[in-house]
Amino acid sequence: NLSDRLSQSFKQLRGRGVLTEADVDNTIGQIRRALLDADVALPVVRQFTTDVREKAYGAARSKALNPGQQVVRIVHDELVEILGGETRELHFASRGPTVFMLAGLQGAGKTTLAGKLGKWLREEGRSVLLVASDLQRPGAVHQLQVVGGRAGVGVWAPEPGDGVGDPVEVARSGLAHALESGIDVVVVDTAGRLGVDQEMMDQAIAIREAVHPHEILFVLDAMVGQDAVRTSTAFRDGVGFTGVVLSKLDGDARGGAALSVRGVTGAPVLFASTGEGLDDFERFHADRMAGRILDMGDVMTLIEQAEKRMDQAEAQKVAAKAMSGELTLDDFLSQLQQVRRLGSMKKVLGMIPGMGQMRDQLENFDEREVDRVEAIVRSMTPAERTDVSILNGSRRARIARGSGTTVTDVNGLVKRFEAAKAMMGQMGQMSGMPGMGSMPG
Ligand code: GDP
Ligand code: MG
Repeated sequence: NLSDRLSQSFKQLRGRGVLTEADVDNTIGQIRRALLDADVALPVVRQFTTDVREKAYGAARSKALNPGQQVVRIVHDELVEILGGETRELHFASRGPTVFMLAGLQGAGKTTLAGKLGKWLREEGRSVLLVASDLQRPGAVHQLQVVGGRAGVGVWAPEPGDGVGDPVEVARSGLAHALESGIDVVVVDTAGRLGVDQEMMDQAIAIREAVHPHEILFVLDAMVGQDAVRTSTAFRDGVGFTGVVLSKLDGDARGGAALSVRGVTGAPVLFASTGEGLDDFERFHADRMAGRILDMGDVMTLIEQAEKRMDQAEAQKVAAKAMSGELTLDDFLSQLQQVRRLGSMKKVLGMIPGMGQMRDQLENFDEREVDRVEAIVRSMTPAERTDVSILNGSRRARIARGSGTTVTDVNGLVKRFEAAKAMMGQMGQMSGMPGMGSMPG
């Protein structure tokens, strides 16, 4: 995997006081092979290695402190550059409905994206109508209706029994309806094929001409590897697009398609899709993706998701208590439940820096461990939760029985809890922010 390969090649540089040009060449050769193996398009790899080599030579010559670190920095910045730098804002109509049209191969994730976009836009306070212009695949209309229902937005679909139906007409009438009802954003779902084909492209062009989209979002499955280049150029030259959505970034192919598509098509990546659920979706940020590829974790995304899904007030209360060293097991449990709401522990841990290398261990992470902790805390009396120091042998035995665990499990939890409490108390003292009570929220 790309992340592992890159961190492997940096390992030799770390901690070296002096770098020669040969060291740089050696590292860049490894990076080049890692990128090619991750299906990054050749022209993109060429540009990347040329730019990095120049700057890395410079860093080596400058005899600056810790040149290895600098090379990592250079690679990071170049990744950000290739991924497109700053994320641009979406184009919205100044008057009347904004139209987003989705394009891409069958199975790329368009219909799923329609739901994600719908929910996201609705949460931003806009009214949304999803338009079912995929009349190709049986069940496609129904799928959009289900997704729209989940997202809590309206769906415009041809009446059953209308015969074959004309996707262009559906798009046109959907937009007319949105205009009449004062709907803010129309998302037009379209049909894809398994491969690029002229009929599909002609249909997409006809829909485009009928509704004049403000954004045409090309949805690209990040798992497709080398085909990503061919598919994206075909869509660029066919219907054309204003932005890219990378789907299935939760899969194993970390980075290849993402790195190629911007360089190959020139269009910015606007969103990343990271799962089948409606919330598995985020704005694409080049610096975060670069961090992910370099296995620097993705703390910003984690924080954003945490903010969205956690109870702010509750989280702050717990943080304040923790920093002042007054954490109780009740807080611990509530924190655990909040974290769990973020998704599986595996996914959460995967976004924390340094955890990427523990992926194998994460595979074996036992979600039931969280259940065990919860059962143990629930078997304690309020007094025990507030003050673990009263937990003598007989209390521990009672708790183990009550929670269906062993005394060893209970001891382990108490130990970990006390260590966490002590550590966070120290952090609170060091940062000089007792309680953090004045944090804005
Ligand atoms: P469409 O043919 O382009 O409309 O693709 P769909 O939206 O029907 O998605 C095809 C399949 O991919 C479905 O099973 C989706 O649940 C799945 N899918 C879509 N987006 C993602 C994603 O970001 N991650 C994962 N793991 N699966 C996805
Ligand atoms: Mg579809």
